[in-house]
Amino acid sequence: MTSKLIITVAPTGNVPTREMNPHLPVSPGEIAASAVRCRKAGASLIHVHARDLNGKPTLDPQVFARIHSLISERTDLIVQISTGGRAGMGAEARSAAVRLLRPDMASLTTGSMNFPDRVYANSFELIELLARTMKEAGTKPEMEVFEPGMIANAQMLVAKDLATEPLHFDFVLGSRGSLPATAKNLLHLSETIPPGSTWTVAGIGRGQLPMAVLAILMGGHVRVGLEDNLYYRKGELATNEQLVARVARIATEVGRPVATPAEARQILGLPGRNP
Ligand code: ZN
Repeated sequence: MTSKLIITVAPTGNVPTREMNPHLPVSPGEIAASAVRCRKAGASLIHVHARDLNGKPTLDPQVFARIHSLISERTDLIVQISTGGRAGMGAEARSAAVRLLRPDMASLTTGSMNFPDRVYANSFELIELLARTMKEAGTKPEMEVFEPGMIANAQMLVAKDLATEPLHFDFVLGSRGSLPATAKNLLHLSETIPPGSTWTVAGIGRGQLPMAVLAILMGGHVRVGLEDNLYYRKGELATNEQLVARVARIATEVGRPVATPAEARQILGLPGRNP
């Protein structure tokens, strides 16, 4: 039986600016307010990046702490901290917020590729250090997979006892420099992960909606938000809650109920929320 649908919202990211989309939540207060609206619209998980006072990406664990506590006070969303490398590449810096906050989840990119503006280098040494940090923190990694080889790298972490099955994957498709957002690519990735794994898909830009629709029908889960896509449709800027609401609406229409955060915890094998 297909499980209920987990909708992840990625509201901010590292790349978008308010000039690109005035609805982008940047400060901790704005991110928490967006979280409240997205929870109402159907999100059960939030993927969080932090910005400094100038709106630039930061890995400062105190900023992550502020965002984490505001979201947790105001919603029951599962919080996933980004350990992505655009804000800085050092392994210690990228794992600092996980060590401090011991969040439910954190993202873990299991290989290197090209971003449109730079090489995104994730050596085995770095990947293993991040995985070890998450394991020690009791944080479930979301394996960020940009191409099929990264699935094998995630399984290598299991073999080295740095990650525990069942794994959870996020397929990031349509980013310039890595795998395009096509049905064939999504099908191949979903059939390549180890049995018993869960997966979600983050389509980038115009790939967001088609990938979401496919995942709803295929039994996967969906990530949307301004981190990955600034538009609701061609020429019309989106809000995070609009993007979440559209996925929830389509899922409901095709008979795939949307998971609450408590149900998403069960699907992902996360412990219950602390009161
Ligand atoms: Zn991210």
